[in-house]
Amino acid sequence: MRRPLVAGNWKMNCDKQESAALIAALKNEQLKDGVEVMVAPTFVNLAAAVDQTASSKISVAAQNMNQHASGAYTGEISGAMLKSVGVDTVILGHSERRAYFGEDEALLAEKVKAALAVGLQVIFCFGEVIEDRRAGKHFDVVAAQLKGALYDLEESAYEQIVLAYEPVWAIGTGETATPEQAQEMHAYIRSNMAARYNDNLAQNVTILYGGSVKPNNAAEIFGQPDVDGGLIGGASLKADSFTAIVNAFPV
Ligand code: PEP
Repeated sequence: MRRPLVAGNWKMNCDKQESAALIAALKNEQLKDGVEVMVAPTFVNLAAAVDQTASSKISVAAQNMNQHASGAYTGEISGAMLKSVGVDTVILGHSERRAYFGEDEALLAEKVKAALAVGLQVIFCFGEVIEDRRAGKHFDVVAAQLKGALYDLEESAYEQIVLAYEPVWAIGTGETATPEQAQEMHAYIRSNMAARYNDNLAQNVTILYGGSVKPNNAAEIFGQPDVDGGLIGGASLKADSFTAIVNAFPV
């Protein structure tokens, strides 16, 4: 079912004390009813974040996980480990993982399946780079990303999947897609999903927009009919700007 959701991707920011302080500040804010609020601290702070948010409306996501269930993968974290500390959601396919850690559709397909298998919800990120958009290939690129990582899945898998369209040229650049560009792509994503699955699924999947969402542009983006919320990077690192974005939601 489509649901209003705003998730903060903290990336490699916030040490133990900063993470605790940011969550404490968010718990003091009036976060709009009817909007699901999620934060994604770094791995070492997840367990504490789960405890700290236990009696609040804030939930906790991880930023990544390994595709294997367990074993000799030094330095890696499995989905079951995330579940064991109370994490329910994992972000997969973020453009920084794709660009700096070589994650491609084949690997992401494995990661998505591994996450679903242990009962994690997945926020699956995808989006085109600026060269693709300038060449008019952005719809094809997005279609290939969806097909490559997700379209082997059964329809029922989407009960655990949230999509996050994040045009790479808008991430951390201050350059936001216009509300019209976001709406156009989100509508395309639904039509692409309807072609692979069916209309009902396409209309019910939650699709977030991510890319330089700030307090001053959130309301217009969230007001688009096919945009269900946002994945927020930079502006999620301050309680006041993240709250203003959550509260910009027209619910
Ligand atoms: C992100 O990293 O997912 C993101 C959208 O970052 P920013 O909001 O800083 O563009």
